[in-house]
Amino acid sequence: MSNKIIAKDNERLLKLKHNIEQATNTFLGYPVSKDFDYSELNDFLSYPINNLGDPFEDGTYKVQTHEMEKEVVSFFAKLFRAQPNNYWGYVTNGGSESNLYGLYLARELYPKAMVYYSESTHYSVRKNIHLLNIPSIIIRSQENGEIDYEDFENTVKMNRHKPAIVLTTFGTTMKEAKDDVSKIKQILKHLAIYDHYIHCDAALSGTYGAFMEPRVPFDFKDGADSISISGHKFIGSPIPSGVIITKRSNRDRIAKGISYIGSLDTTITGSRNGHSALFLWYALKKLGVEGLKKRYEHSLDTAIYCEKKLKEIGVKAWSNPNAITVVLPKTSNEIKQKWQLATEGDVAHVICMPNVTKVQIDEFIEDMVNCKTNEEEEFELDF
Ligand SMILES: *Cc1c(COP(=O)(O)O)cnc(C)c1O
Repeated sequence: MSNKIIAKDNERLLKLKHNIEQATNTFLGYPVSKDFDYSELNDFLSYPINNLGDPFEDGTYKVQTHEMEKEVVSFFAKLFRAQPNNYWGYVTNGGSESNLYGLYLARELYPKAMVYYSESTHYSVRKNIHLLNIPSIIIRSQENGEIDYEDFENTVKMNRHKPAIVLTTFGTTMKEAKDDVSKIKQILKHLAIYDHYIHCDAALSGTYGAFMEPRVPFDFKDGADSISISGHKFIGSPIPSGVIITKRSNRDRIAKGISYIGSLDTTITGSRNGHSALFLWYALKKLGVEGLKKRYEHSLDTAIYCEKKLKEIGVKAWSNPNAITVVLPKTSNEIKQKWQLATEGDVAHVICMPNVTKVQIDEFIEDMVNCKTNEEEEFELDF
């Protein structure tokens, strides 16, 4: 009896593996890299690794990867041009938690603030603001997905008496648009709003933002107070993860605030994934800054190719400068399902993650050509 159940369950597992494999192969619409190999770390799956607590503080639980986690934080702090003696951060469960942390820190510093974010901001941000119970105003986006600076200035102007928390996005979800942090900073300065905080949501593009030419201002030197990224997006990981980098001085202010409980409970969750930190550390060690840069150049090259090919077959494709995301009008349902193209309103996108090849793009283009003729026929019938 029990053997039967096991055989059946094994069958289900095999089927699940097959389905996951299939779905992974044709996949152009979501910003997730698939070209990772962490098999050298397999042995670590045998241990109850837990990065409990602040990675920069000693704890009693020793089955952890805090050393590696700190190196991951340092790597990104340097890449984001944080002051060498004034950064802090940790490996989170993903970009959403990293954003929650940035906003939490901002609210602790300015409890009476107003949050501003554009309508192209990731859906997790609205929920985070709701959780934190901070008043907020949505700013218009430009056609390319970037925040409308004029609308931002006019809106902030009406609330000059309040501290401002601005959530900028470096690589919006649909169009990979980048809000210019230095322009935001200038506007706040111009309006003499000294009490302000800028959190930069750089989930996808933050990992390669430093390599863009010309660069788009987004990092600490440009005026950000905290930056979040996702670990499983551009770098890739079997487990979702993220990183939050903040200024140590700001984090110290909230750490003091709760020190009466006798602990530095500085992270959002108590138990934390120590394997993710290890995976990220491993990937960064293998790649180094040069490897990351090459990864970006490959993606950019593929995106340029994809846009060109789409235009050649008459599809109105376009992309933001330096983006690895190609925006196109929404496709037929068949193509959307097969290539798992995220679609919002009339717009779909192809994201040329590092594992995407020109051969794959060619296959996609062929599908588009075949499908397009069908759609045109339908279109004629409508009239
Ligand atoms: C993916 C993404 C997020 C959320 O990150 P998760 O790692 O999925 O939690 C937030 N903001 C932007 C712009 C994103 O692209």
